[in-house]
Amino acid sequence: MENGGSPMNQWRFKGNEELTLASAVTIRGVLNMLMENLNVHETRPVIPLGHGDPSAFPSFRTTPFAEDAICAAVRTAKFNGYSSTVGIPPARSRDSVLKFISKLNRECASIGFLIVGALLLCLDWHGCPPLLVEARPLTPLASTFHVKRTSESHRILLLERKEREGLFMGGVRPISEDEGRAVAEYLSKDLPYKLSPDDVFLTIGCTQALEAITTVLARPGANILLPRPGFPYYEARAAFSHLEVRHFDLVPEKDWEVDLAAVEALSDENTVAMVIINPGNPCGNVFKYEHLKKVAETARKLGILVIADEVYDHLTFGSSPFVPMGAFGSIVPVVTVGSISKRWIVPGWRLGWLVTNDPDGILMKQGGAVPQILENTPSDFFLKIVNTLRESADICYNRSNEIPCITCPSKPEGSMFVMVKLNLSLLEGIKDDLDFCCKLAKEEAVIVLPGVAVGLKNWLRVTFAIEPSSLDDGLGRIKAFYHRHAKKQ
Ligand SMILES: *Cc1c(COP(=O)(O)O)cnc(C)c1O
Repeated sequence: MENGGSPMNQWRFKGNEELTLASAVTIRGVLNMLMENLNVHETRPVIPLGHGDPSAFPSFRTTPFAEDAICAAVRTAKFNGYSSTVGIPPARSRDSVLKFISKLNRECASIGFLIVGALLLCLDWHGCPPLLVEARPLTPLASTFHVKRTSESHRILLLERKEREGLFMGGVRPISEDEGRAVAEYLSKDLPYKLSPDDVFLTIGCTQALEAITTVLARPGANILLPRPGFPYYEARAAFSHLEVRHFDLVPEKDWEVDLAAVEALSDENTVAMVIINPGNPCGNVFKYEHLKKVAETARKLGILVIADEVYDHLTFGSSPFVPMGAFGSIVPVVTVGSISKRWIVPGWRLGWLVTNDPDGILMKQGGAVPQILENTPSDFFLKIVNTLRESADICYNRSNEIPCITCPSKPEGSMFVMVKLNLSLLEGIKDDLDFCCKLAKEEAVIVLPGVAVGLKNWLRVTFAIEPSSLDDGLGRIKAFYHRHAKKQ
């Protein structure tokens, strides 16, 4: 070996191409690219209308109840070690986990990974204090699972409690009864039946919940139906798990409802699930009860699972109330994913859940930060947040209607986003949505997400969850940008 030379002239390790491809389009990647276009000599503040994270703005500060719950949980010193209370009771722990996993993987080539995953989980993950976990040590491991199953058996797997406990071992922390009870009770408030703590799996943010479910559903040849426009992380995770993606449209003229005829046309015997995001990112829409029921009936007819991303649950400020998909759990099995990131405005805390909706019993107990946060936050906090969002959504809608090259098909009623259509024919020298956003960043220090990042070219996704005064400033700058680039008649 010479100085600096590699052994045998070649290193044996290299990047995973599949991973690189799977994450080719990410919201964060596009936003980072736009940030590079900012003019270093710009003196005005940057207006961030691209990234849905309002936690930095005073109007969106989380509730002291949540902050206190975390501090109190830390001060008890109960969550510093590998906890005996956090996690599955001994009867359901290591032995049964491994037994379950062996069973699940009789056909599976990569059993070694599974066992390593389960052990790591028992040793490491398992003991992490809730809410203070940032790293995701098991994420790559979870993705190496190649479990072969028929679509019938995966349905049984999802529905049968005992198996569920093992099913999500590849990266999801089992939970204490307290946490399970708190999440179950929180979600049950909106449901016609009670969830049980056994229905709940705590995850590291909603992100990990959707990782877990795409991993679990992946089997050779399987496909999943995703909304367009949507949340590109689903595409990335599906690609990573070798799940084929098929897109159905959300229809702008119908308040972004699901094109159910397209869902039926797209699905076949290898379709395992469809995803809905409600309240919607990126569209800011809120599905009505009747529409959700039709979604459930369609999924039942097709024999597929509904994955309901309800990370923006209750962030609604228009005429349609939030209805959880789980309300239709008796029509079709529903896996709901969510987190405290958005409603409590704490995306950095990384606490989420995956819940199987299954009308069942209840358990009682108490303790920890999660129950405190879910149960003790006074409703005036949520009211204040929703009122601020309504005010911002109004500003966003009204002011963007003053900008000729932008049309907003429907006023946002939920989440933190709105999709607006770009009319390029009114602009001089702007190629497409990406070009628009790059130039806007450079000239006006305003960051907006090009629609191409969420699957809809030549649209824009605008986040209105920022300080109302900045939003007003940002939209004013977009208007000035338009007038500078407007096509001369
Ligand atoms: C923000 C977001 C997530 C991820 O939520 P975290 O709890 O921050 O991991 C998932 N789905 C959608 C639609 C989101 O907007």
